[in-house]
Amino acid sequence: MIKKTILTLLISLMATYAHGQESSIELPLIGDRLSGAVSQTEEEALGRQFLRDLKRETAILYDPIVQEWTELFVYKIGEQSKVNKKAFELLIIEDNTLNAFAAPGGIIGVNAGLFKYSDNEAQFASVIAHELAHLSQRHFARQILEGSDRSNQSLATVLASIVVAVATNSPAAVIGGQGLLVAQQLRFSRLYETEADREGYVTLQKAGYDTIQMSEMFKNMQEVRRLSGDNIPEFLLTHPITTRRITESRERAREYPSPGTVDSFNFRLIKKRVEFLMTDNLSIRAMEKEIGEEDEDIYLKALLEKRKLNFTRSIELLKNLEEKHPDNLIIKTSIAEVYTESGNIRKSKDYTNKLLAVSLGNYPLSYNLANAHILEEDYVAAEQLLEDIKFYRPVDINLLKDLSQVQKNSNNMLGYHLTNSEFLFYSGRYEEALRDLQEARRIARNNFKIREIITERILILQSYVQPARRRS
Ligand SMILES: [Zn+2]
Repeated sequence: MIKKTILTLLISLMATYAHGQESSIELPLIGDRLSGAVSQTEEEALGRQFLRDLKRETAILYDPIVQEWTELFVYKIGEQSKVNKKAFELLIIEDNTLNAFAAPGGIIGVNAGLFKYSDNEAQFASVIAHELAHLSQRHFARQILEGSDRSNQSLATVLASIVVAVATNSPAAVIGGQGLLVAQQLRFSRLYETEADREGYVTLQKAGYDTIQMSEMFKNMQEVRRLSGDNIPEFLLTHPITTRRITESRERAREYPSPGTVDSFNFRLIKKRVEFLMTDNLSIRAMEKEIGEEDEDIYLKALLEKRKLNFTRSIELLKNLEEKHPDNLIIKTSIAEVYTESGNIRKSKDYTNKLLAVSLGNYPLSYNLANAHILEEDYVAAEQLLEDIKFYRPVDINLLKDLSQVQKNSNNMLGYHLTNSEFLFYSGRYEEALRDLQEARRIARNNFKIREIITERILILQSYVQPARRRS
């Protein structure tokens, strides 16, 4: 009863907030009760485990240009949200169905399909804002608190079921006989969805977007649902779109109109780039037939020419775009990338270094430069660059994988086994990670200092291996 009262109070307080009156009301009202069920530290630890399991079970779409743009975007929206710890980890899943999710510890996941089904940047933003609201309102912990008398579901099992659902793209397929139960756990209550919509709306507005696009996005989703028959995408099962939600969001936008950004050239470029990355060679022809004449279409055309190894044509198209958009770093980085892929290493290095002199430490550009060094077999230079990137991206498994290969090629076997163990650890492959560490310790047997550090890491890893063994 108390629980319900507090929740109602909370909702009405938030309604006040949503109506544009700044207030400093924060969640700690029920924070203590929540922390009794799941502490924030525990939530974060489980979130990190969730991340490692997810990386093990699903294909991650990895492209430094897309990754960086989307990461910065999540930070930009997150800055306006009520998430109190503004450190986010973004995962882009290599899957063209519509999906997005959030997990405790600032984890935001989006499928490649979210780009596909968002007509513009504001629509994309509305989904991110909604997911961030699930985090700021601590819906995971609250759901568990509410469910604690009904079943013994824990945050760990809920997160584990999201991993399976994302990996198989089917909540119904989850864990055999318990399927139904788990599917229910995945589903936030209607109350939480409404709350996330309302809170997400405020975030969207603060971030300067045209808020009517939230209801437009809902309409897109409803259309996806209509067309998908029994194959309803996970997102629409876990975030059911009701007519009420659409109406409410439209009314909210009408009552408090806030014209703002609808779209940006960069979003359109990224959308095309994701479309390109998700297209296999067999579909290129069909894709080419449907390309339009806008600048972002020219960009897609240039990427397709690159895929067909027509590098000169690809550069030509990109250079035309560069002339029209002289400050656009996505276009410039794409030019640098074509130079590298075409094997024009000197040109790639010159062009990239010039850009890096202005955009110091830029991650996609640094990565391109590292790739150029790898192609000319200058592994020492490549290793240095990747190490520099690693300083800011310590759990980036694709970076760790590339770095370990470079170290192997430069015959730095100690570095290789250490980096590879990190790659395996952050991919949730604990036993294999342990083997690499043991190999590293063998190589470092005469270096007392390093051997001690490795031994410490081995002890930590062993604590991960034990429970993982028990689970299987
Ligand atoms: Zn939701």
